This record gives sequence, structure tokens and C-alpha cells, in this order.
Amino acid sequence: MTGPAANLVEVDGLTKHFAMSRSLADFAAGRRPVVRAVDGVSFDLREGESVGILGESGCGKTTMGRLLLKLIDPTGGAVRFDGVDITTLKGPDLLAFRMQAQLVFQNPFDALNPRFTIFRALTEPLVNAKVPQEEHREHALKAMRRVHMPDLDQYAEKFPHQLSGGQLQRIVLARALILEPNFVVADEPVSMLDVSVRAGILNVMREVRDTLGLTAVYISHDLALVRYICERTITMYLGIVVEDGPTEDVVRDP
Ligand code: ATP
Repeated sequence: MTGPAANLVEVDGLTKHFAMSRSLADFAAGRRPVVRAVDGVSFDLREGESVGILGESGCGKTTMGRLLLKLIDPTGGAVRFDGVDITTLKGPDLLAFRMQAQLVFQNPFDALNPRFTIFRALTEPLVNAKVPQEEHREHALKAMRRVHMPDLDQYAEKFPHQLSGGQLQRIVLARALILEPNFVVADEPVSMLDVSVRAGILNVMREVRDTLGLTAVYISHDLALVRYICERTITMYLGIVVEDGPTEDVVRDP
């Protein structure tokens, strides 16, 4: 019998405050006003879990996602990944973390450099992780197969503007998976796509999550998306967590 999965990520009293521009009255009073984008948040993510972070615009979802991946530094609190506080990581330890934790960008049209070929964009994480060049093609082929685009040669030398939004989002996903991470944060992964191609991308995401045993966070304001893909939902409001539980409970009584 296997016990409950261990925690992969532990978020502990996390805060992120952004400085706002100061008015004359603020200067006079010595005030430094801040936006409390994330304001004392704690939760754990178990290995293999898919969790949605839901909430209205401006509640701090994107900031939370960026903190989880150490793309920005917190004002206070900790994010532990596999027991290690990532907020203080540097050098080779930070590189090792970056290989295991990846972001799937919101907008595939912005996520890929328009001057890079698809092959170059796809293999960029391998370059950053110093994977030998002769292994790049093999990794690229594997990642493209995962997103159901097995014919790498058909796309390799193309540029982003020559592909459809759905194809680009698959490439963005393949790039996020090319280092075989065990943690992925997807920020509004299908919001820029036509409804007709959304289901296809979401199915691919579900499939890779299951085959790779990924721990995944999906950031969205769309309850239907979260319901489709996440067994657990965290709801944020003005920088704090107001609800955390099985998605079905949130759907029944949002
Ligand atoms: P959306 O769904 O619209 O993307 P969100 O829930 O992801 O919203 P965040 O983007 O995390 O919300 O923003 C939370 C708050 O922090 C907002 O009030 C936003 O204006 C503010 N904020 C975010 N980034 C910065 C920044 N770099 N500088 C100043 N304020 C910021």
C-alpha cells in the first residue's frame, strides 16, 4: 500500500508588495504606499497534484505563479521546493531548480521570439541548462511527440508567424517540457486561443501531466478550465487565499 504523496511545494506566509508611485501628500507624510499583491499566503502542493489558482483580475494570481518559480523575489515568507527554500537559491542550485520547474506562458504569440526558428526557440532551455548540442534534436523530437506534433522537421526551420495559435501553444508547452520538469505553472494557458482549439490543448496538458506525473498549477479566472483539469482549487481575493479545497466543492458553491 502506498501512503499519501509527499509535498513537493510548501508556501509559507508568502508576501509580495509592490511600491506604488507616491503623491505629494505621501512624501510629506513619509508614507510609502504599496500594493499587497500577495499578502501572507500558505499552502502545500503534493507531488502529482493539479491545482487551480482562481480569482478575479488583480487578485494576485500571476504574482503568485511568478513567486512559485522564483521569477520574482518575495517581500517575505518562503517557498520550499522539495524541502529547500528557493527564495535564497543562487548559482548552480538555482539552475538545478530552473531545470525542474517551468512556466507555460499565457500568450503563445508573445512567448516565442519572432526572430528565432521554432527549433531554436524549442531548444533554448537546453542551451540554458548546458545540455550538449548533439543531444538537442533527440530532446526536441521527444517533446514534440508529447504535444502531438511528431513531425519536427515540418516546423523546425519555420518562424512563429508561420504557425497557428494552437500550434504555437503546443510548441510553448513542448518547450516547457523539454527538460522533463516535475513542476509546471501554466498562467492562463489557453486564454488567447480560439475556443475551437482550447479543448485540444487542454487534452494535451492533461495527458502530459498524467504521463510525466507532473505537479501542476493552472492560473485562471475561468472556472470551467480549472474544473476540467484540476482536482483542487485555491481561490484568491485581494492577495489572500479565501478558499482551498476539492474543485467539485468550489463548483457546487463558488
Ligand atoms: P490578472 O488576472 O488580471 O492577470 P492577477 O490576479 O494575475 O490579475 P496580478 O497580476 O498578480 O493579478 O496583480 C496583483 C496586483 O499587483 C494588481 O493590483 C497589480 O496591479 C499589482 N502588480 C502586479 N505586478 C506589479 C508590478 N510589477 N508593479 C506594481 N504593481 C504590480
